[in-house]
Amino acid sequence: MDGDKKKYFRQLEDLYGDEIFLSLNNNAEKFPTGLIKKDDPNRLSIFKDKIKNCLKCDLGNLRKNFVFGSGDPNASLLIIGEAPGEQEDLSGEPFVGRAGKLLDKMLLAINRSRNNDVFICNVLKCRPPENRDPKKEEIDECEPYLINQIDLIQPKLIVALGRIAGKTLLGVEKSLKEMRGVLHKYHSRSLIVTYHPAALLRNPNWKHGAWEDFKLIQKLLD
Ligand code: SF4
Repeated sequence: MDGDKKKYFRQLEDLYGDEIFLSLNNNAEKFPTGLIKKDDPNRLSIFKDKIKNCLKCDLGNLRKNFVFGSGDPNASLLIIGEAPGEQEDLSGEPFVGRAGKLLDKMLLAINRSRNNDVFICNVLKCRPPENRDPKKEEIDECEPYLINQIDLIQPKLIVALGRIAGKTLLGVEKSLKEMRGVLHKYHSRSLIVTYHPAALLRNPNWKHGAWEDFKLIQKLLD
């Protein structure tokens, strides 16, 4: 058995014990949500409980809190950042602090909120020290959880916040400028890339571009 397959079955074992459930989904290898029923209103909290003690990469030993993500389990809009920062690590919630407040305002402008048709999470569920960029091996271990979340939420549109989240999800080395304004695909879902709200706080001149992106988001969702 090659390394990828071993890793996949190890992940299944961690999540579901020694019983294996095969899905008819063509992407079964990427969507090992096994026993969790897609129409269970508690499906996300069940999944969170399965993975919240994860130690698959070194970040697990450094975290104060596991940051699963939060919001509407039936959201049509899934917002993804790169990784928790200091405030998120302390609180266990995604996008808190000033950047989170700005994100809330942007969502309000498209008639949505964290608990209304939006789910917010990160590629990594644990904070990298000093907010450094995620390492490839950390992404390799943690991204399957994100794919599971997508499988359970079934969003209509994914929005990656910032260059790092965008290039990580798309698997490309591109600038934010090259990724913005283009409808991409991530695991069969439409995805667009826009500014990270923390970058907008540092460079308010980018807010106009961000607003254009959010108008596009609204158009794609309506
Ligand atoms: S970052 Fe992801 S893979 Fe690494 S310990 Fe945390 S949950 Fe597990």
